[in-house]
Amino acid sequence: MQQIITMDSFTDFTISNQLHYAIEDLGFEKPTPIQDQAFSVILSGKDMVGIAQTGTGKTLAYMLPILQDLKFSKQNTPRVLVLVPTRELVLQVTKEIEKFSKYLSNRVIGVYGGVNINSQQQTLAHGADIIVATPGRLYDLVLSRALKLKSIKKLVIDEVDVMLDLGFRFQLNNIFELLPERRQNIMFSATMTDDVDVLINDFFKGPKNISIAVSGTPLDNISQSCYSVPNFYTKINLLIHLLNDKDLYNKVLVFVSNKRSADRLFQVLEEEFGFQVAVIHSNKTQNYRIRSIENFNKNKTRILVTTDVMSRGLHIDQISHVVNFDTPSFPENYMHRIGRTGRAEKEGTSLLFYTEKEQPAKEAIEELMNMEIPEIEFPVDIEISKRLTIEEQPKDYEPSSTNHKSRDESFGSGFHEKKDKNKKVNLGGSYKRTISKKYSKPKTRGDKNYNKRNKNK
Ligand code: AMP
Repeated sequence: MQQIITMDSFTDFTISNQLHYAIEDLGFEKPTPIQDQAFSVILSGKDMVGIAQTGTGKTLAYMLPILQDLKFSKQNTPRVLVLVPTRELVLQVTKEIEKFSKYLSNRVIGVYGGVNINSQQQTLAHGADIIVATPGRLYDLVLSRALKLKSIKKLVIDEVDVMLDLGFRFQLNNIFELLPERRQNIMFSATMTDDVDVLINDFFKGPKNISIAVSGTPLDNISQSCYSVPNFYTKINLLIHLLNDKDLYNKVLVFVSNKRSADRLFQVLEEEFGFQVAVIHSNKTQNYRIRSIENFNKNKTRILVTTDVMSRGLHIDQISHVVNFDTPSFPENYMHRIGRTGRAEKEGTSLLFYTEKEQPAKEAIEELMNMEIPEIEFPVDIEISKRLTIEEQPKDYEPSSTNHKSRDESFGSGFHEKKDKNKKVNLGGSYKRTISKKYSKPKTRGDKNYNKRNKNK
């Protein structure tokens, strides 16, 4: 368990004796910082957004005020709904709530997909006070009328970053529409992402933000530097150049902020380095992800490309380099990323690539750390690519679908020097077509079916 440093004691909390006894039985002596800070906010009924990682004691942080507020009732329709992204978390959170409720008479039921729905329907028929659920199964249970959400007073969404990364936005929207409008929303996320930000703006009313601050002091044994790079494909040229030094760059974790960039980067790196490179993000199957991580851990692959959210549960040691292929727009994510290297007394190195557009994000990181990241001059022998990603192209840019040749000519010569077998994917319109086909429409707030369409891809 991380970060249990706090001044207060549980005796300062206005909670029932039953809750005090349960906490005593669990052997918890002091509240963790998130428990300390969230208690009065949640008890006051305000919406709350908590930025805290697993291991900070966040389950008790939201359950303590909720349980304190939850009066005994004979009604069968649940009053508290906790949404979590995975079956494992349903089981874990349900078990935790049962422990906290040891001396109370709450009825807690956990429901999740991938198992027969009938037995869950039967269990729900006996009534419940608190439901812990994954979004998809919850929605199915509501549609089958086994569960009614009209009495929900408090909604907790836990690990919302993972939930959105797994493509649950569509299901969340559906569930929100079924919930009473007058309710308290409580949300926890380990990382801030653009998707999380959009969700908060769409559904929360003036939430109180509580952040278990990531320390802005990086470990001394992590050496940091940065490169100013004009665009995505030049970043790839630079990365390939660095990775060619196999002895120095022997275990490299490359961070990108989203799946699209991860796929795009992986495709080019794979052409260059073959089996030495793997990618993990939430669109990959669980088996593929497990295998990729295992191979990286056993040093069978040298380079692992990952998104912020996916990297969280990773237990990987001895990483020689963390490469921030893009500059995280939330500075805390940078701290999480670089903390993956330099573990256990080992020296680690972190590199940050930033474009002009990412400069303010880099400055925000420097402000958080209260230090400037030393800059390394961009190596002169590396090709500056003129090729732009769809996002980098100016808005009024009209790609000429017939004139592939002229597009190809604008790429850096680094790409022309590739082996013949690589040319077909890496160069020109075909690659762009594959990508634009895969991501046919931009993800917009209004496009409710986006996640539905992409979930099964
Ligand atoms: P969580 O972040 O909710 O997954 O909690 C992580 C672990 O910390 C769980 O095993 C909890 O039982 C435990 N825990 C929660 N609160 C405290 C506390 N105040 N003191 C010690 N352990 C705690």
